[in-house]
Amino acid sequence: MIPLGDSPFLQELKFTTNGIRGVANVDLTPYTCTRIGQAIGTYLKKGASVVLCTDYRTSGPMIKSALISGLLSSGVSVSDAGHVPTPALQKFIKDSARFSMGLIITASHNPPEFNGIKVIDSDGIEIPPKKEDDIEKAYKNWKADADLPSWEKTGVFNNESGVINHYVKNIMHNTNINKDNAHKIHVIVDPGNGVTCSYIQNLLDCLGVKYTTIFDTPDGRFPNRVSEPTPESLQVLSRKVVEEGASFGIGFDGDGDRAIFVDNNGIFHWGDESFAVILDDLLETYKNWVVTPVSSSVLVEDVVKAHGAKLEWTKVGSITVSRRMLELDAIIAGEENGGIFYKPHQPVRDGGMALALIVGVLTRQSCEMTSLFKALPKYFLHKETIQVKQKDKEKIISRVKDAVKGETVLTLDGVKVFKDGGSVLIRPSGTEPKFRSFADGKTKEIAEQLSKWGIDLIKQASKD
Ligand code: MG
Repeated sequence: MIPLGDSPFLQELKFTTNGIRGVANVDLTPYTCTRIGQAIGTYLKKGASVVLCTDYRTSGPMIKSALISGLLSSGVSVSDAGHVPTPALQKFIKDSARFSMGLIITASHNPPEFNGIKVIDSDGIEIPPKKEDDIEKAYKNWKADADLPSWEKTGVFNNESGVINHYVKNIMHNTNINKDNAHKIHVIVDPGNGVTCSYIQNLLDCLGVKYTTIFDTPDGRFPNRVSEPTPESLQVLSRKVVEEGASFGIGFDGDGDRAIFVDNNGIFHWGDESFAVILDDLLETYKNWVVTPVSSSVLVEDVVKAHGAKLEWTKVGSITVSRRMLELDAIIAGEENGGIFYKPHQPVRDGGMALALIVGVLTRQSCEMTSLFKALPKYFLHKETIQVKQKDKEKIISRVKDAVKGETVLTLDGVKVFKDGGSVLIRPSGTEPKFRSFADGKTKEIAEQLSKWGIDLIKQASKD
């Protein structure tokens, strides 16, 4: 008898903003993952095909085997692409046009005990909320004595090769580099023992740059750094860039869809800054829509306006950004967490494409990376958080909206107030009883004042 435990997953499945997430062998067990496989199989119907992959998390093979078992038993065929980064599978799903869905077994940047399933639609983008609801319902209505197909109608299993080659080839196809200068660039690459290890040397060889890699052996326990790229987790990368006199450093998150850059002086730059560097180059010729979530700095707006292009702010979350890009026919989008979406390649977060775009800018402009950042308007950031009661979150956001009437605001996701040449984003945490007040300003003092003003608004709105 397989032990079932007491996870909420036994009762129901709930998609998070990042797909299905939970702790391996607590939430994601052989029982729940087989049931997820059968629920997806029931939703897709017999005869459908899916492709799946994993990162290097230790629980990957266990979860994958159970999912495959559930899918095949429902009459859905499965192709296993092995260890590949998230954007590579997304690109393959869209271009091969052979699959109803893709399943990426990863917990992105979460600690090693976590795992998850990102569910990808046939267009290569995460499935919309309606399809998530349908899968949740199929999971809830699942019965152990479900009407399974007879033995000759169970799904067919295949291994899928060629996903990485397809991905690298398409990045190169959409990269505009000056080949004469590529050999002068020396990149320090930190995949953080994540799934980027599976292809990054292949891409760097194609780009023609010199490179040195650190933390480059696959290890799903993430022994060297947490898999979220932050100023703290990329300290070894920063030091290595300076020691080697390299052109820049790049650090990836666990599943390779986000990339953060360190310049030639070892200085860490958030994703909206590297996005602004790419924009400053791209918008010399492209003048149409650019998309970014409200979590980005006003810096992005400054650069877009300076080039006469148009900026669309969206809610936070990669699926919202991807779908809005398609609606507006925007060529590019970017996030402060290191997500770059480049539509000529694909309209989803893509760490490998971000690397190629930056190499493109450096080889064509033939300059140091630090000068690209120095050419941008300078903003200082200040971030504060405050504890609130979980039940007060909605009341607070509604009162803050009332309190900022008359200011220039966006209320798509939390409240973003544009003030004193900068901005402050007041937003509840999705998972904890907290509010965050993130500000950017032309000086350190302005950023601090704006952030404190945001905290004061939250305190006022919390009163009974
Ligand atoms: Mg990720």
